[in-house]
Amino acid sequence: MKRAAGRVAINKLTLQKYSRSKKILPLQEYTQKAFETVKCLDCANCCKNLGPALLPTDLPRMAAGLQISVTALLKKYILMDEDGDFTVNALPCPFLGEDLYCKIYEFRPRSCREYPHTADRNFKKLTNLHLNNAETCPAVQLVLDKIDTALAIKD
Ligand code: SF4
Ligand code: SF4
Repeated sequence: MKRAAGRVAINKLTLQKYSRSKKILPLQEYTQKAFETVKCLDCANCCKNLGPALLPTDLPRMAAGLQISVTALLKKYILMDEDGDFTVNALPCPFLGEDLYCKIYEFRPRSCREYPHTADRNFKKLTNLHLNNAETCPAVQLVLDKIDTALAIKD
């Protein structure tokens, strides 16, 4: 999902400006507002396009949710990527239902719970992550737009 270079450049500048700024903006509120506008069940871009990074602790929980063994989960759904991390073996994610609900929602991986990280307390250190996520997630773009507007306002 590639976007115009202009939009990416503006996002990069916004993130760099915010990282350098002493301001602490209410990102939790921005994130909450963004998800009042953007509905995940009309979108599912992340589940369609990004393979979640899986922690070893995710595996037994996911297996329990699917009522299969961890071995069966690994064989049927998981691969190891080039960085040696576990992820799903297909995109869209094999656990994404046709109705765009996650079939293992209660048991989903930690990275899915935490996505898109716009309220993360280390937000300022995650510039590249947010830049990439803005390519996929419309809520991230809304948060970056809010940051851009807030930084333009003089104290
Ligand atoms: S890409 Fe963002 S808005 Fe779309 S489903 Fe994922 S978290 Fe929700
Ligand atoms: S496990 Fe669920 S929430 Fe995570 S990517 Fe797959 S469908 Fe989406």
